[in-house]
Amino acid sequence: MQQIALTCLPMKLQSSLRQKITLGYLGYYAMALLVIALSLFTYAELRLIEQKVRLGEGISELFDATLEIRRFEKNYFLYRQFADFQEGNRYAAKVDELLENNAADFSVLVASAPQIASLKNKIRIYRNLMAEYVRVSNIDAPQEALLEAQIRKIGKDVVAITEGMAAAERRIIRASLDRFRTILLVSIGMLSLLMMAVGWALSRMVVRPLKHMDRCVEAVSSGRLDKMDVPSDDREILSITHAFNLMIGELELRQKRLLRSEKLASLGTMLAGVAHEMNNPLSNISLSCQLLLEEIEDSDVARRRELMEQIEEQTERARKIVRALLDFARDKPIKRERMPLATLFDEVILFLKGETLSGVNIVADIPADIEVSVDRQRLQQALLNLIKNALEAIGAAGEIRISAAKRHLTSESAVSRLDGSPKSLGKCFHGGDAVDIEIRDSGTGIPTEVLPRIFDPFFTTKEVGYGMGLGLFIVYEIVEEHNGCISVESEVGRGTVFHIRLPLGNSDEAPQVS
Ligand code: ADP
Repeated sequence: MQQIALTCLPMKLQSSLRQKITLGYLGYYAMALLVIALSLFTYAELRLIEQKVRLGEGISELFDATLEIRRFEKNYFLYRQFADFQEGNRYAAKVDELLENNAADFSVLVASAPQIASLKNKIRIYRNLMAEYVRVSNIDAPQEALLEAQIRKIGKDVVAITEGMAAAERRIIRASLDRFRTILLVSIGMLSLLMMAVGWALSRMVVRPLKHMDRCVEAVSSGRLDKMDVPSDDREILSITHAFNLMIGELELRQKRLLRSEKLASLGTMLAGVAHEMNNPLSNISLSCQLLLEEIEDSDVARRRELMEQIEEQTERARKIVRALLDFARDKPIKRERMPLATLFDEVILFLKGETLSGVNIVADIPADIEVSVDRQRLQQALLNLIKNALEAIGAAGEIRISAAKRHLTSESAVSRLDGSPKSLGKCFHGGDAVDIEIRDSGTGIPTEVLPRIFDPFFTTKEVGYGMGLGLFIVYEIVEEHNGCISVESEVGRGTVFHIRLPLGNSDEAPQVS
């Protein structure tokens, strides 16, 4: 298992998430203030436009009144009805009153003060001329004609002036509306930009590091990464990362301690097993020795050879038991060498030749160009354990098929491939080049309830004296030492497949999260 490189993260003067979130809040407060200011401004603008519209109504009234004056003037000239004169005079008085009441507003917006004064003067002259006209009509024809011409001219002037004022008012209202629309559009645009800027800044400064952290935690928990490394200066994130990495380190340490204590416990159990196992060859040796001593004088050479061979055989058996114990107990450092995978398997199959029954066919289909960098003796021990189990599961007749293929793995495919299997162990991530080894047998298969326990130390389904339940536990340890991973698929009656993935590159390299 790879060591965790714990980095002590510098606790210099850093920014903090709290500060950033507060800044974000300030941005939102600024926006809220802007919205309030905009609303007030809009309200004031609307009030102004409303005033102008009201003024416009006064000007329209003024203009309409002057038109009425002219209408009744024309009627009077035509029909000489005193009522028309009176009506015209009433409208003239109304114009006078409107000018009097709104002089200040009119002079600010639609006409200058002298213009208003001139209009008032013209209305006054008009009224006088009309009164004079009424007085002289039907008495003095030439005077009447002169007055009529003067009245018409001055009436025209009055209408022209009020028409100009109405047009000016319309222009002013249109300009105000245009200005209001522009200001509103620009404000909405600015507000949207500000909102986007604040949102973007918050997402960049706060959400992004959190998302990265989330990905890192996920990568660590799935075994693709040894430690969390978040590129952020935020105090909170740095302290969480630091605490998280410390926790991972502590967990790894505990795991190792646990494994060691389990190994020690298993050594004790194994010693008891060994003592028991050793009893058989030792008593056989002792028996053979006794027989030899008794028969040494009388027996022939063949008999003596037979007994000596039995002693030799039993000694070898005892040595094997002791070696297995030593191999398990010894903590030798792993020593890698580069070699073809096919050679490794060929040798293992050769070791097992004596135990392979004639009905069992072992087929190894391993491309010659696959080279692995492994501890020869350890990996061979793992392969030996796996093939031996397969031989035992097959019994008298069947097939063991060994195959291997190179893979180039992205982090995603690396995770999905072996994690999809019923039993997946170890770090099943190796981004980069790897070799997938498959050992498939046509044996009995493993029952579903047994499957989750087969890698546990001392778990065996074999009879006492036939299995110690350490084979797969050791296989798992060896594969893990090589930064590989192992999983198994099995079904009772349909055989078993062990998948092993070993990295082909520099296996000490810590995998990178993408
Ligand atoms: P042992 O071989 O000493 O029992 P192992 O750890 O090698 O210990 O195996 C544990 C158990 O897993 C075995 O007892 C057996 O039930 C099961 N097992 C392992 N490999 C196979 C296989 N290829 N087919 C069927 N069962 C298997």
